[in-house]
Amino acid sequence: MTKWVYLFKEGDASMRNLLGGKGANLAEMTKLGLPIPQGFIVTTEACNDYYARGRQVTDEVKAQISDALAELEKEQGKKFGDNENPLLVSIRSGARASMPGMMDTVLNLGLTDVAVEGFAARTGNPRFAYDSYRRFIQMYADVVMEVSKEKFDVVFDAVKEEKGISLDTDLSADDLKEIVKGFKEVYKKELGEDFPQDPREQLLASITAVFRSWDNPRAIYYRRMNDIPGSWGTAVNVQAMVFGNMGDTSGTGVAFTRNPSTGEALIYGEYLINAQGEDVVAGIRTPNPISHLEEDMPEVYQEFMRIAHLLEDHYKDMQDMEFTIEDRKLYILQTRSGKRTAHAALQIACDLVDEGKITKEEAIKRIDAKSLDQMLHPGFDDKVIKASTPIGSALPASPGAAAGRVYFNAEDAKKAGDRGERVILVRLETSPEDIEGMHASKGILTVRGGMTSHAAVVARGMGVACVSGCAEVGINEADKYFTLGGETIKEGDYISLDGTTGNIYLGDIPTVEAGISGNFDRIMHWADEIRTLKVRTNADTPTDAANAIKFGAEGIGLTRTEHMFFEPDRIPKIRKMILSSTAEAREAALEELIPFQKQDFKGIYEVMEGRPVTIRFLDPPLHEFVPTAKADIEALAKDMGLTYDEVKAKCDSLHEFNPMMGHRGCRLAVTYPEIAKMQTRAVMEAAIEVKNERGFNIIPEIMIPLVGEKRELKFVKDVVVETAEAVKKEMNSDIEYHVGTMIEIPRACLLANEIAEEADFFSFGTNDLTQMTFGFSRDDAGNFLDAYYENKIYESDPFARLDQDGVGQLVKMAAQKGRATKPELKLGICGEHGGDPSTVEFCHNVGLNYVSCSPFRVPIARLAAAQAVLNNK
Ligand code: ADP
Ligand code: MG
Ligand code: MG
Repeated sequence: MTKWVYLFKEGDASMRNLLGGKGANLAEMTKLGLPIPQGFIVTTEACNDYYARGRQVTDEVKAQISDALAELEKEQGKKFGDNENPLLVSIRSGARASMPGMMDTVLNLGLTDVAVEGFAARTGNPRFAYDSYRRFIQMYADVVMEVSKEKFDVVFDAVKEEKGISLDTDLSADDLKEIVKGFKEVYKKELGEDFPQDPREQLLASITAVFRSWDNPRAIYYRRMNDIPGSWGTAVNVQAMVFGNMGDTSGTGVAFTRNPSTGEALIYGEYLINAQGEDVVAGIRTPNPISHLEEDMPEVYQEFMRIAHLLEDHYKDMQDMEFTIEDRKLYILQTRSGKRTAHAALQIACDLVDEGKITKEEAIKRIDAKSLDQMLHPGFDDKVIKASTPIGSALPASPGAAAGRVYFNAEDAKKAGDRGERVILVRLETSPEDIEGMHASKGILTVRGGMTSHAAVVARGMGVACVSGCAEVGINEADKYFTLGGETIKEGDYISLDGTTGNIYLGDIPTVEAGISGNFDRIMHWADEIRTLKVRTNADTPTDAANAIKFGAEGIGLTRTEHMFFEPDRIPKIRKMILSSTAEAREAALEELIPFQKQDFKGIYEVMEGRPVTIRFLDPPLHEFVPTAKADIEALAKDMGLTYDEVKAKCDSLHEFNPMMGHRGCRLAVTYPEIAKMQTRAVMEAAIEVKNERGFNIIPEIMIPLVGEKRELKFVKDVVVETAEAVKKEMNSDIEYHVGTMIEIPRACLLANEIAEEADFFSFGTNDLTQMTFGFSRDDAGNFLDAYYENKIYESDPFARLDQDGVGQLVKMAAQKGRATKPELKLGICGEHGGDPSTVEFCHNVGLNYVSCSPFRVPIARLAAAQAVLNNK
């Protein structure tokens, strides 16, 4: 029989896949002898089983839950469902990877109308009993029955207002009784039934709700953003309650063993007296810093510090802990490796190595490669900042500089982001529903909340700048404006946020580029020592190339030559070439282009100082270059001595039904070999001149796109070689050069053994390869992919993360077939995927020589390549 349920004392940290992160760590802490309220875990496999059976929990699972509950009752000396001394539990989700805010917790489960009386009598604290009950009803309604929290907040706030009370903690037992009554009425009104009075029914419905929440849209979105497979499932933790809301000797809090924003090696935390659960992170009251606990309850503070250090030493990583104090007794409710900014991640990794706690290799493995992107984000221009006066200042919750237009809800923020605007989201506080809007924002400003509030945690995870807890802000979300420092800022106005200092400025402050230094540089060097995969960049201009070198690029894997033709002084010439009706006329037009193209290549060769450079020959369909505006057509007609109608007709004749699969790539060179000749001449002359002038050892790599057949490649290659040899002779040079191909058509993968006979190298163009393998275009896929994610047909965007099952199989096959023909064949990837960590690992495993990605992703690829080596050890 499968074991679907584990007591905390039956598990440990190694069982994360089965017990989820939270459950495995609760089990591990139990083993370490720490003060953990006991409980049991319904496994991730039970969740998968629930989905496999069309959302059914089997009797077998239910029976095992009952058995575990009986064990827990024995241990706690209390009965679940008892009316005098009831055992109350929390229901907590916990997937393998932590998904903060994605799934919700139910506390105080087991209370009923009768039990709450017994509970009040037993504890001698009716206020506390009713506070627990009202929380339970609201959470249960929200999480299990999907009735929005606000419906209850209305009742709650009305009572507070009626009594003239501003702090929740000032509500009396009778006030809370009244609130419970009101809550039950809301429940009945919304759901047409009474609040359930059978604790077992409450329990089962809650467990099922956690399973169900695994597939809510927020969770699916979070998984897609973080490469978490849907097949992992979530576990459910059922845990005996401890109470932070018992009065002034109780409380609840969260803490990090190091600063999650800067990495500073100081315990960092916040707590609230007489509070429960999410009160701290929800920003309802402003919490106290952990240092206050030393005065409030010195013994608890000492104990807390002891455990914090113990946990960090045990896990050898910065921990994010949740704790509750029940009448001066400390309980730990959670520990996990804390989310942190990239800046903090690098600091902590270096510190832990220096403290001798972990090796360089472990340090490398720990860092989320994707997060390095944050390090490359620009900061504010120092000069402008010094000359500006902030209109306000609050907690620097997530570092980085952001300037943009203000929006007041997630939906507006997302829409503005989609329009290409830079967005600053301003909210009273954020909630998990806001996640897409937060993602679309450059910066987030909240009125409520501390360093561990939802906004702060999520913003740090996303690398979005965040300033939180700015109580001076007077916000009107409905009318879309806020006031601060005597200014009124309306929707669409610009503000600037400094997430590193917490300062808020009026207007659009310019930002400056980042570089690699300090800890970042140190870790990058460690990564370089470990990795075997080379990292190149995709760069079309000397500026991009120079930037990429700053970030550690070792060469260029893709220079697209067509962009060079779009500049105003060139486009008329390329148009003339395209519209020429004879080869002679075309050659004459191309002749004019050579000097431009040669200059471009020289610029790149000079910047690259002898590092390898792959230049791809003209790729897009020609119609992309021809004019559509009347004035442009007229100008071209004049230049070519033709009539307007003649030119117009020629342009129209270039129309294709399916240009992505039309007259483009090497097909252009097959029909117009002069184009390949011109480009070869430009590449070779540029290389020879820079080599002669600067002494760099340049070996040009000429790349023919969109090849699907060996003879096709040979045809173009013969043109290239003939021209290249001619140039060499003319310039009296013995320069070496390579001719290779992009592999981006499925047929090329299938026949890679033949194609390799004519190629010095392959570079996988996984954008086209993905599009042609899936049979949908990347420009149109956005229209329907959302439905695919929602229905769990695809989990991620195949254009962002390489589809290893399908497209990956083609890559692997082509690599093997190519090398079977030519063992020394050089292999690389130059699609967008080249900077995606999971794809980098795949490329390493398949034996490619290099990945090539956009300049800003070069550090990510360097780290991911090192991680690939370590993951295979
Ligand atoms: P999340 O995954 O969103 O952090 P948790 O399952 O950790 O959700 O629950 C949120 C909070 O609820 C905890 O930080 C803790 O304060 C409170 N909580 C959960 N279980 C218990 C419990 N058994 N006793 C007291 N408080 C609890
Ligand atoms: Mg939560
Ligand atoms: Mg938690």
